[in-house]
Amino acid sequence: MSTIFDYRCSEKVGGLFPELDVPARGVEHLIDSQHLRTQPLRLPELSEPQVARHYTGLSKLNFGVDDGFYPLGSCTMKYNPKLNEAMASLSGFANLHPRSDVTRSQGALQLLFELTEFLRGIAGMADVSLQPVAGAHGELTGMFLFKKYFESRGEPNRKRILLSDTAHGTNPASAALAGFSVTEVASDEFGMIDLKALDEALDETVAGVMLTVPNTLGIFETNILEVTDKVHVAGGLCYFDGANLNSYMGKTRPGDMGADVFHYNLHKTMSTPHGGGGPGSGPIAVSGTLIDYLPLPRVCQKNGQYELDWDLPNSIGSIHSFYGNFLVAVKAFAYILQLGDEGLRAVSENAVLNANYLQERLKKTYLLPYDGLCKHEFVLSGQGIADGITTLDIAKRLIDYGVHPPTIYFPLTVREALMIEPTETESKETLDRFAEILEAVAVEAREDPQLLHDAPLNAPVRRLDQTQAAKNPVLTYPFDEKPA
Ligand SMILES: *Cc1c(COP(=O)(O)O)cnc(C)c1O
Repeated sequence: MSTIFDYRCSEKVGGLFPELDVPARGVEHLIDSQHLRTQPLRLPELSEPQVARHYTGLSKLNFGVDDGFYPLGSCTMKYNPKLNEAMASLSGFANLHPRSDVTRSQGALQLLFELTEFLRGIAGMADVSLQPVAGAHGELTGMFLFKKYFESRGEPNRKRILLSDTAHGTNPASAALAGFSVTEVASDEFGMIDLKALDEALDETVAGVMLTVPNTLGIFETNILEVTDKVHVAGGLCYFDGANLNSYMGKTRPGDMGADVFHYNLHKTMSTPHGGGGPGSGPIAVSGTLIDYLPLPRVCQKNGQYELDWDLPNSIGSIHSFYGNFLVAVKAFAYILQLGDEGLRAVSENAVLNANYLQERLKKTYLLPYDGLCKHEFVLSGQGIADGITTLDIAKRLIDYGVHPPTIYFPLTVREALMIEPTETESKETLDRFAEILEAVAVEAREDPQLLHDAPLNAPVRRLDQTQAAKNPVLTYPFDEKPA
């Protein structure tokens, strides 16, 4: 065993290092002695089998799309084809250094350029930047574009963003972070923006509106053209949250509906695993009005070569290092190439079909506050299932059946909400099984309510403190427990 390991590892060794083939030298000559440890750092001392068992054990506690049904509304937890992972692992992509010379990265630049073209076509917009790395980041970038636009027009008084009461929480957060104030506009009894309320809110202090299309109730705003028209007439801009793009790809385009900025969630719509907050990609598309302000650099084609253009004097500047999360872009590119026009359209048709199939069956058992054709998702309510039973109880009981619970208590406009997004990648058998489970849980709620209050019964953990578990997770190795 090498000396490098001796000082801290007294008994158990997780790996063997080769003998040093250079003179051993401490860090004393690099770091001032007052900053050096006097005691070795307390690290767990474990053998290789213990480490392997620890991590394998952890991996078995996890639930993912590859384990089972995951109808988490708004999140599009669909199956991600493994082929796309293989493409992103190709050495030419995965090992390319972001500072490589342009002449050595022509293939990567070509991919970025062509993906931009595909996305531009899907959205029907003037141009696209791939730089933002999440939907929320796309929103923030879009809000910076709004700001720059009004600054350059000499309208600094436009400081307000209008938002529907069904908006995703990231929308108001992004607007506020970019320095706007937020005004909520109520929905009407059909779950769509109330045009009267919109008229009342619009004036010369409004910078624009942020719309989710279709909205978080899974409802397509049939008056979308009137909405965007009203905003434009009032001198404002329209931001479209595109997290729900999997419900209308190849069917309609935000560019045809009056969008000025639109964000894609490539990790949702175009197959990158995204539970746990892994690397994402939230490109934005813009209308002609905003092209000059797009982030830097831009991939362009000059004399048959791909190049990076930094020469855009009105740009808002860079909003991420390099060009965003490149390998997520590779997966989206592979996804689009595999499916083609017809395939992308079929994705949307199946996403909508699956959601409507489930909605029609489940509305016989659960309250459906906004009835009608839905898009990729729908929102039920746990109200009235049984006395004293909440949506939280229902969600926890689903875990016992091996199903990930839907999104609950969102959107806020539905009390006891259960927001279900089956996605296009699920079979009829899976949808039927899920419906059977939700129906069985409704019966249990009436016959054995305590069972639901106690659920989950067969999960590795029971009910956690939901706030603290997310805000203060315990991630250190438990020293005082014996390792497995
Ligand atoms: C997921 C989602 C977002 C945020 O996207 P992230 O990539 O998670 O930042 C915004 N709006 C809607 C409607 C979403 O579903």
